[in-house]
Amino acid sequence: MKNITIAIDGFSSTGKSTIAKLIAQKYNYVYVDTGAMYRAVTLFAMQHNLVSSDFLNEHELIEALKNIELTFIFNADLGFAEMFLNGKNVEKEIRTLEVSKLVSKIATISEVRKKLVLEQKGFGVKGAVVMDGRDIGTVVFPNAELKLFMTASAEKRATRRYKELIDRGDNVSFEDILFNVQERDRIDSTREDSPLLKADDAIEFDNSDMGITEQFERICSLVDQKIGV
Ligand code: C5P
Repeated sequence: MKNITIAIDGFSSTGKSTIAKLIAQKYNYVYVDTGAMYRAVTLFAMQHNLVSSDFLNEHELIEALKNIELTFIFNADLGFAEMFLNGKNVEKEIRTLEVSKLVSKIATISEVRKKLVLEQKGFGVKGAVVMDGRDIGTVVFPNAELKLFMTASAEKRATRRYKELIDRGDNVSFEDILFNVQERDRIDSTREDSPLLKADDAIEFDNSDMGITEQFERICSLVDQKIGV
C-alpha cells in the first residue's frame, strides 16, 4: 500500500482534529495538529508579555523565536501526541479561550509562519501523515495526495467548541465563543501571508449536519482510493 499525505484545512472548530486523529489511528499514520504549534507560540508570547488584546511586540517575539522549542510527544493513553513548549506539557493551557483570542494575531507574523512551516514540512518527509491547519494543502504540502477542506455554520461550530470548553470546566459564554470563532475566521482568511483558502484540488466537506461516523466513512473511502485498497 502506498503511503500518502493527507492535508485537512478549514475554518475554526470544524472538527478537523477529531477526524484527523481517527484517520491517523485507522491507517497508523502520524497526526500533526499545526494549530497547537501556533497556540504554543502564542502562549510563549503571553507568558513573556509580548502580546495582549491591544498590544503586540512583534520585534521581540521574532527575536525570541530561536528560544522556542516545540515538541510533540505521543501519549499512548490518549492515542495522540501532546504539545510541549520548551520541555513543558502545555496541552491544556493552549486550548483556553485566552489563547484562542490572541492566536490569529500571532499567526499573521511571517517569521512565525516560516519557522513553523519548516518544522511541519519535516514531519511529512516520509509521507504517512495527516496534518490539519489552515494552509496545509496550499503552502505546507501543496502536492498532498488528498486534500480536504472542512466548513460548517458558525453557530454549529461555536456550539461544539462551547461544549468542549464547558465539559473541561472552563467558565466561558456562548457569545464569546461565537465571536471568537468568527473573528479568527476573518483574520485567518484575510491575512497577507498564507491566508486560509480552499486549495483548488481540495474536496469540501460541510459537516453542519453530518455526524462524525458519516464523515469518517466518507473520508476513509477517499483515502482507500488514494492508497489503492
Ligand atoms: O486549529 P486551531 O483552531 O487550533 O488553530 C488556531 C489558530 O492557529 C488558527 O485560528 C490560525 O490563526 C492559526 N493557524 C494557522 N495556520 C495553521 C494552523 C493554525 O494560521 N496551519
